[in-house]
Amino acid sequence: MIDLRSISFRYREDWVLQDISFRIERSEFIGVIGPNGSGKSTLLKTLCRLLVPQKGEILLDNVSLKEMGQREIAKKMAVVPQEAYSLFPFRVTEIVLMGRSPYLGHLMFERAMDLEIAKKAMEWTEILQISERSIDELSGGERKRVFIAKALAQEPEIILLDEPTANLDIHHQVDFLSLILSLNREKGLTIVMASHDLNIASEYCDRLILLKEGKIYKIGSPREVITRENIEEVYGCEVWVDENPISGMPRITLLKEGNCINETLERD
Ligand code: ADP
Repeated sequence: MIDLRSISFRYREDWVLQDISFRIERSEFIGVIGPNGSGKSTLLKTLCRLLVPQKGEILLDNVSLKEMGQREIAKKMAVVPQEAYSLFPFRVTEIVLMGRSPYLGHLMFERAMDLEIAKKAMEWTEILQISERSIDELSGGERKRVFIAKALAQEPEIILLDEPTANLDIHHQVDFLSLILSLNREKGLTIVMASHDLNIASEYCDRLILLKEGKIYKIGSPREVITRENIEEVYGCEVWVDENPISGMPRITLLKEGNCINETLERD
């Protein structure tokens, strides 16, 4: 569905993404992980053509992004930004309706069909009851749902999420991720999620891309990517990796400096 062919990108002189190639299949849930500054956000921005790589190309359903208009891309792909806020105190419905803009002509008003689609998006994300409230009166978790509803109103096939669970408490993290997972499993949406939280990425994603200094260090299933060796090499700190006892997926435990793994193993 999305095919990245040797893309490299730089903002200034230094390359921030280097020779990145991979394919994303339809209905996959892909996680992009890596330390701060490794290029996760930049990669997401090239996927939706907010940034254009200086080298290589990205194909969306076999068509180069360079040949597609922003509107055409927006009909296939929606982005939920890291900071889900609005500069103006719009009502929730108004924000969700903005998701319909790729389908509306210049100066064209929403049609009944657009209102219906926005309503469905709000139903799915369970925000109908707050639809008349102003965005700046909502909690962080509610705001995230509003921006997911806006993305859904775009009727995309792909949703790009940048650090979606940052600043959410664990209850809201689980709620939010259940919603994303249901969009993936029930609606067949393709999800690309950049995340700092390795345990979340391990639990929810089908495949992970681990970035190190703008290059792909490892790509594969969570079991292949989340290993002690890979994480220590890329993040430069000691971790303990075992299995989540419920799901069987890799689980990372952070280690306090001085808690040496080998000594602990010998003691046990
Ligand atoms: P991550 O999302 O993994 O933290 P980013 O993609 O945000 O990484 O950043 C990758 C690199 O690109 C960093 O070195 C960062 O400083 C640099 N960078 C990000 N945005 C800009 C920008 N707008 N202008 C110049 N450099 C940038």
